[in-house]
Amino acid sequence: MEQGGKPVLGWAARDASGHLSPYRFSRRVQRDGDVTIKVLFCGICHTDLHVIKNEWGNAMYPVVPGHEVVGVVTDVGTGVTKFKAGDTVGVGYFVDSCGACESCGTGHENYCPNLVLASNGVDSDGATTKGGFSDVVVVSKDYVVRVPESLPPDGAAPLLCAGVTVYSPMMQYGLNEPGKHLGVVGLGGLGHMAVKFGKAFGMTVTVISSSPGKREEALGRLGADAFLVSHDAAQMKAAAGSMDGIIDTVSAGHQIVPLLELLKPMGQMVVVGAPSKPLELPAYAIIAGGKRVAGNGVGSIADCQAMLDFAGEHGIAADVEVVGMDYVNTAIQRLERNDVRYRFVVDVAGSQLDATA
Ligand SMILES: [Zn+2]
Ligand SMILES: [Zn+2]
Repeated sequence: MEQGGKPVLGWAARDASGHLSPYRFSRRVQRDGDVTIKVLFCGICHTDLHVIKNEWGNAMYPVVPGHEVVGVVTDVGTGVTKFKAGDTVGVGYFVDSCGACESCGTGHENYCPNLVLASNGVDSDGATTKGGFSDVVVVSKDYVVRVPESLPPDGAAPLLCAGVTVYSPMMQYGLNEPGKHLGVVGLGGLGHMAVKFGKAFGMTVTVISSSPGKREEALGRLGADAFLVSHDAAQMKAAAGSMDGIIDTVSAGHQIVPLLELLKPMGQMVVVGAPSKPLELPAYAIIAGGKRVAGNGVGSIADCQAMLDFAGEHGIAADVEVVGMDYVNTAIQRLERNDVRYRFVVDVAGSQLDATA
């Protein structure tokens, strides 16, 4: 515990069971350039689930998860003019970067090799970072974004990770142009955001899912133009060569060749889901038609701010199920079986954080 640090109440996982329970710790004292934020809401991302259960072998317990934070500024350090007490702000997947590498220098700091993650990361002072499942976060102003007042703070929280993860590659690869045809594979936290952004960009959006039961959701509630069942060969064949781009959000193992067949020549597929087993990519599937496959990891701070501003203008928020912190272990179990439409968000400010678990 940092000497003289700010006492904070949070919830942490202590071991690979991933079970979360109340945890008292200390945050760094607000430095010059820092913003102190009272956390209102924090989304639960699949990454949190992987980390608290040490599925990636990198958990530094106790782990306080949470990197989809929306809160209110309570104090700012010397030199902060961009934010003031009372502002609604967001904090996403990372809270610092080196500022000196090529990625940082070209505005792609999300690919900095020394990126400091918001949770379970290593801060510049060597401390393990603690995420948004806590009442207060202290973050450098350069890694804080403004949340438009027009957005509901609970529905805005998932934009900080899920939202920017799909928005950023859509901008980068020109999958934001009216009239273009976008395929969205998987209709979860990421997928439903990709549908909303695609429609707001004026695109034709087709959802591709292994679950026929999601048709009504996709077409009715989310406003997609078409729906394909990925294992229906006839449907897939009829749509072959029709898409300018595909955002693949599926994190379970799946075949990508049938998806690549949906692309037009020189079409762009972007992988944002992370199956634990390697994807199978035979060369012929991209050589014929000159197709392209790229990955994407979240987005820069500038992308995140642009995404929030766009979301604010177009009234785009995530569809969320808001829960109290006392429900978080159940929520994580439900997330593991994809039993959520489409994101759990913890009402941190409305929860009794020091209650016995
Ligand atoms: Zn995330
Ligand atoms: Zn860097």
